Amino acid sequence: MTVFNFSAGPAVLPEPVLRKAQSELLNYRGSHQSVLELSHRSALFEAILDDATSLVRELLEVPLDYDVLFLQGGATLQFSMLPLNLATTHRVDFIDTGGWSQKAIADAAPYASTRIIASSRDDHYRSIPAGPFTSDADYLHVTWNNTLEGTTFQEAPRVNVPLVADFSSSILSEPIDVNAFDVIYAGAQKNLGAAGMTLVIIKKSLVEQTPSALGSYLRYDVHAKHHSLYNTPPTYSIYLTKLVLEWIKQEGGLQTITARNRAQAASLYDALDHSNLFSNQVAHTDRSLMNIPFSTGQQALDDAFIAYAERHGLVNLQGHRSVGGMRASLYNAMPTTGVEALLSVLRKFEQGER
Ligand code: PMP
Repeated sequence: MTVFNFSAGPAVLPEPVLRKAQSELLNYRGSHQSVLELSHRSALFEAILDDATSLVRELLEVPLDYDVLFLQGGATLQFSMLPLNLATTHRVDFIDTGGWSQKAIADAAPYASTRIIASSRDDHYRSIPAGPFTSDADYLHVTWNNTLEGTTFQEAPRVNVPLVADFSSSILSEPIDVNAFDVIYAGAQKNLGAAGMTLVIIKKSLVEQTPSALGSYLRYDVHAKHHSLYNTPPTYSIYLTKLVLEWIKQEGGLQTITARNRAQAASLYDALDHSNLFSNQVAHTDRSLMNIPFSTGQQALDDAFIAYAERHGLVNLQGHRSVGGMRASLYNAMPTTGVEALLSVLRKFEQGER
């Protein structure tokens, strides 16, 4: 049976990437060493890191005045590193769009006074607050794609302070106007590869502001100066990201990927909007392409659907506990056949099949 994995992360990876990783596992490019065994100071690994960096720059059109860093600690460490490095007057503003914004706010609080300048809490986080936004803090933080609630910003808020965005669940799903941001960060385990690595794209002028009274690992300037090789980086995770980036390029780049993502998400939203049983409650203009929550409105029926889908090879469709119901994550590596299989299972369940 073909299994389609709708997990929010760690998530489905492109099959060609997994096959390539398998073929290179034992003997990387004739070195008779596994990628897992390569020294991070070896020429072979440095080439992997260079390729990953230049592919990020190429695919996302990152301007030269930004550094591209590969760090550890997940997106979660960025919740602390950002205020530690950038909150020079100890004031950080947030747009609160749900569970991951809340976590970012809670982690900034020990280092800075945090202010929520807009929130969609009253709307149960089913939409993105409308601008215009004003901020005079050290930076404004937004969660671009809300993995739990299935919402996404469509446009970068225009503010006169540095704009920092958590792109964990939508990086490389669509082109980004990098110039509109000062920091973009994303954990790897959704669209970039395997857990263990966090991509940080940061404006060089901000890197230069790092206060010196910080432990070395916490300093952006240390990582930038050493090109992500200050200490042992997550070598295998960086290698997998390099393979994922090569796959995106081979697929035709972000244009092809975006068109596929849009078509897949549109077909699922359309099915949900026309269903008499299932629905998605997110404001139409703010719907995520990557994470699509839906429900029957009855927990017992939702549970029955999740079990039914699993028997048909569609796994990890349960929604996050804070939202309930189901959630289909349609990351870049989800094949269109997976979405078609989901549509068919939705239809049959609605027709009464169990
Ligand atoms: N931000 C967002 C939007 C996320 O979806 C996640 C993980 N699901 C995180 C942050 C936390 O990432 P990590 O587990 O890599 O720390």
